Amino acid sequence: MKILVHICCAPDAVYFLKRLREDYPQSEIVGFFYDPNIHPYEEYRLRFLETERICKELGIELYEGEYDLESWLSAVKGYEDEPERGERCAICFDYRLLRSLQFAKEVGATHLTTTLLMSPKKEFLMLKESGQKVCKGSGIEFLALDYRKGGGTQEMFRLSRELELYHQDYCGCIYGLFKQKKGPVQWDLVSFGGRRPGSKEELSFIKGARLFAEQELGLSCKEWEFGFLNWKVLQGKLEVKGQTIPSLVRPYSPSIRGLLKADPVEKVGRVIYYNKGGLRVILTEGLRDEPLEFFDNLCSPTFLVPKEYEEILLGNRVSAELQTEINPDKSLILLIGSLDAKDIAYLPADTLQDGTGISLEGLREFLRKEQRDIALGRKAYLLVGASTLGNPGVRYFEERTGKKVRSFLCSQTS
Ligand code: SF4
Repeated sequence: MKILVHICCAPDAVYFLKRLREDYPQSEIVGFFYDPNIHPYEEYRLRFLETERICKELGIELYEGEYDLESWLSAVKGYEDEPERGERCAICFDYRLLRSLQFAKEVGATHLTTTLLMSPKKEFLMLKESGQKVCKGSGIEFLALDYRKGGGTQEMFRLSRELELYHQDYCGCIYGLFKQKKGPVQWDLVSFGGRRPGSKEELSFIKGARLFAEQELGLSCKEWEFGFLNWKVLQGKLEVKGQTIPSLVRPYSPSIRGLLKADPVEKVGRVIYYNKGGLRVILTEGLRDEPLEFFDNLCSPTFLVPKEYEEILLGNRVSAELQTEINPDKSLILLIGSLDAKDIAYLPADTLQDGTGISLEGLREFLRKEQRDIALGRKAYLLVGASTLGNPGVRYFEERTGKKVRSFLCSQTS
């Protein structure tokens, strides 16, 4: 007996796969992650990475299906406004199970099932009907397993917590995102350059690092979530005589109301001060961002501009526009190694606004070199989100664990 398991996400899969293994000990179990419904792609990657992690943990072979989002969108066209458990979901189940059935045939499976059956928010009978309909006449049997019963759902949540799995807060598609997510969704739909603090890109990077450290190097890992005050630019522009000056915005700069026209007053060090709205320009080597060492409460609208523009800026009036947002947000700390290690150093997981930061490849290389010291408990590394915004994660870790952390420059790892 060979069972192909369509996998929708790691939390739904973790207990389901464990039970399946116990109930069908003689069977070969193969996983197939197929979720073209998930939006945006960063969310898809995150769910796939976590699925990869639990499959490696359980020793289950995993295949990734196509991310054919456009085709999925065409399939549910006309059903965008349906509620969860409505007609759109029925089509979505059929769509995913039909492709899974094709794949089951390709790998020579005799049975098909899906981890969607584990999801507390899904209608069990709807899924059973969909699976049976799709498999009818194919020679492949659909296994409608109800592992939610008898405390299965609670066990699923317990295992998810134990393994520190990413837990999504909406089903997956763009329509569910708008209807099910508590709070504003606009930031879920934006793709950032680099890995901005609190973004899905940052989270995927941390989860990808964990997957590598645990599964490839056999190192122990632990995560902590922390809250911080996030700062984001909605839009900003600096102009002189109608010409846009290349610029970045210093973190925690507040919004400017309308269009601010201001004249330079003086230059102190590398900072040009203006006569209105607290406007400042910091001259930098090239168009470079700088990590914030601490949150200094200055909160003036401040642009970072390459120093070659100094003369133009000092001799002219500027027009500045800026819209920013400051909100509570969450990010993650990953400890690679033991909490009792003699030396704990941190690496920023996020990138600066100009995209500068450690790459996953650079980090892998670095961890390979440090593997022995980490395994022996001499060293441990923290990969910390939102580090470029004044290091709230490191401060949280030190407060929470009583351990001291030293900084480790990104350049040392590349
Ligand atoms: S809410 Fe979930 S099941 Fe329903 S269509 Fe969207 S992704 Fe599919």
